[in-house]
Amino acid sequence: MKLTNALNLPQPFVDAATSDHRYVDKRYSATAILKGTREAILQRRHDDEISNDVADMVWAIFGTAVHGILEQGEESQSQIKENKLVVDLPNGYQLSGIFDLYDDATGTVTDYKTASVWKVKFGCWDDWKPKADTDQFDDWRKQTLIYCWMLRQIGFDAHRGEIVALLKDHSKTKAKINEHPPLPVWQIGWDFTAEDFEQIEAWIMAKFEEIERCEKLPDEELPLCTEAERWTRPGKFAVMKKGRKSAVRLYDDKNDAYQRAAGENRNTSGEPFYVEERKGSDPKCMDYCTACEFCAYWQQTYGKEAQA
Ligand code: SF4
Repeated sequence: MKLTNALNLPQPFVDAATSDHRYVDKRYSATAILKGTREAILQRRHDDEISNDVADMVWAIFGTAVHGILEQGEESQSQIKENKLVVDLPNGYQLSGIFDLYDDATGTVTDYKTASVWKVKFGCWDDWKPKADTDQFDDWRKQTLIYCWMLRQIGFDAHRGEIVALLKDHSKTKAKINEHPPLPVWQIGWDFTAEDFEQIEAWIMAKFEEIERCEKLPDEELPLCTEAERWTRPGKFAVMKKGRKSAVRLYDDKNDAYQRAAGENRNTSGEPFYVEERKGSDPKCMDYCTACEFCAYWQQTYGKEAQA
């Protein structure tokens, strides 16, 4: 990746943003396989052409700094810190991963994350406990499950994943009115079963088979990242009332929205109710995919082609 420095920030910022990471043929990290295959391959294929500005990387620098500080702590006898694992896979590819902390006494992999309060807020009840049916933390769960699976391949009895999230935009004032969690650190964990390990193993194998197949394809033929991988927010149909800024109600289904507006208009004079279409979006593609300029979907949906 090429680095730019539009704000002419001091050299230590540039140094901190500079990575000595080099892609290794046929080796993908746990974090890379959690992305869409199109994104993972485009990032690797166009690494020399992708550029990012140092100022836009402050949160990545912040995350690296946090890991660096926590890594300096003394581990207990049963703990292993920041260890790189590489697991050989049947198709000749390799899965790599660096976990933050493993405690062999409890079989727990812990990963530190710097996150936004919103990540937690969307997935929790008012008491800041995770909702039972939320998929908000699936990425964290899957990452620690992959690390546990990798550790198990080399003989450890890893069976629990934990995330310690440092909430970078936490506000004490908002915490007092329960709009933010009580403290700027929030934790979540999962106990993994034999079935979880069977499923993740099957998923890893299938993902690497897909990567092997897709590496032979040109950019435009790579499978589109799924909605989950694009963090898609589906479009909505808003029932609006003249003179009111916010929607009366949002509907997923167009017909439901039109029926509601028509029903309201039957009971009101002047037909003040109407339906407004709110377009869906893909926040990942729009703001967080460094390979977006090489992706036909992004070009057509958000790039110059979309504005033409
Ligand atoms: S822009 Fe979106 S669809 Fe294209 S590679 Fe990135 S995440 Fe995937």
